[in-house]
Amino acid sequence: MKVKVIGAGLSGVEAAYYLANRGVKVVLYDIKPKAFTPAHKSENFAELVCSNSLKSADVFGNAAGLLKEEMRLLGSLTMEAAEVSKVPAGGALAVNREEFSRYITDKIKSHKNIECIAEEITKIPDGGYTLIATGPLTTAPLAEDIKALAGAMYFYDASAPIIAADSIDMEYAFKGDRYGKGDGDHINCPMNKDEYQAFYDALISAERATLHEFEKSDVFEGCMPVEIMAARGKDTLRFGPLKPVGLDDPKTGRWAYATLQLRREDQVGTMYNMVGFQTNLKFAEQKRVFSMIPALKNAEFLRYGVMHRNTFINSPKALNVDYSFKTRPSVFIAGQITGVEGYVESAGSGLLAAIYLERKLSGKNEILISENTVLGALSRYITTENKDFEPMNANFGILPPISVKDKKERKRLMAERSLAAVRQFKSEISEGENL
Ligand SMILES: Cc1cc2nc3c(=O)[nH]c(=O)nc-3n(C[C@H](O)[C@H](O)[C@H](O)COP(=O)(O)OP(=O)(O)OC[C@H]3O[C@@H](n4cnc5c(N)ncnc54)[C@H](O)[C@@H]3O)c2cc1C
Repeated sequence: MKVKVIGAGLSGVEAAYYLANRGVKVVLYDIKPKAFTPAHKSENFAELVCSNSLKSADVFGNAAGLLKEEMRLLGSLTMEAAEVSKVPAGGALAVNREEFSRYITDKIKSHKNIECIAEEITKIPDGGYTLIATGPLTTAPLAEDIKALAGAMYFYDASAPIIAADSIDMEYAFKGDRYGKGDGDHINCPMNKDEYQAFYDALISAERATLHEFEKSDVFEGCMPVEIMAARGKDTLRFGPLKPVGLDDPKTGRWAYATLQLRREDQVGTMYNMVGFQTNLKFAEQKRVFSMIPALKNAEFLRYGVMHRNTFINSPKALNVDYSFKTRPSVFIAGQITGVEGYVESAGSGLLAAIYLERKLSGKNEILISENTVLGALSRYITTENKDFEPMNANFGILPPISVKDKKERKRLMAERSLAAVRQFKSEISEGENL
């Protein structure tokens, strides 16, 4: 039986390569080079449309580095390509993008089990197994069809930063809900007048990220960045996301001058979202400016806020944890369109979806990768019920916590736990064959 993979970007090539190496015949479709999305320019597959960085190379201290090591262990094509095309980049893994894409394209095009067809797919194919991997710029007709299957689809991403719970300085924060209505789960970060003034001045003059030309019209329609809201007037934020009313600071017994609320992002409470702080500031500026809020002075940003053109489905509603659709389990979907965020995360989801697809296709029993791995944690994050669902990148906050105080040691232990789980998974799914 042939598997149709739609999209030869980061996730699609990983999936096609894994399946083909398992003896599965793959037909890989991409609209390129007949036509291009607004961000793609190269005829080659797995095009890196913006930065050439695949983020941190640190396996034991950074979840993005750990994710890459997990993928290496599972035979990832993008990690193989990154190894041959890497360029010096300090603690990060950066690549020569042309070499990276060329290496992958050669591997895919020369594979005896992969047939490549340059064609825009406008409808999810009927019958057989399909894996959709058309990314954040999926063309409109197919996006409509995916939306019909998924039930909902979003066309831009406006996310607020997410903070590691244990990096919030509770000396300067308190728990509770506005007017005591709720289950007391919010963490409130008060500011006095001077602190607010300094924060405000820094916010309105902070450097913003540049949008691509094609993003400018639709990204800001539905959601205003906090820095734009602030620029409307000195007190606008105090009537919006920094509204202090109804939040009694136990230290003073009064409402503060301005108060930021942090909302729990996950059930265990390791991650908190800055409510109403969707932003288009550069990442370094987010760290500099938001750390001026006293409770966030040592904040660890697990995910920075972003505002960009994107396409993603409501995965918690639509998908099983194996990346198949609940209502059509022979159709899988991977990459940025599922709500994982980033080149490597997209590639990783393609690899994992293909592993699960191959087992289903071959009538093997389902084996899920452990939630202690970044790959497993991401797939669970995007498929766990979440009424405020937003895309997520690799970070330690999505992994089950380990209660060790020292942060460095904790991350190291989490990384070791993860790599042991990946090795275990690999031996279970390979059943004697070599991955
Ligand atoms: C402008 C922009 C900049 C980004 N910059 C970064 C960054 O710097 N760092 C980072 O980590 N992440 C970045 N991302 C996010 C994301 O990681 C990348 O988009 C990543 O390439 C997603 O992988 P993917 O496999 O989901 O989709 P893609 O890599 O985009 O692959 C999708 C493929 O599907 C094809 N396709 C689309 N529609 C159809 C169709 N109907 N029929 C057939 N083929 C189709 C496309 O031609 C493309 O080759 C960026 C995203 C965008 C949009």
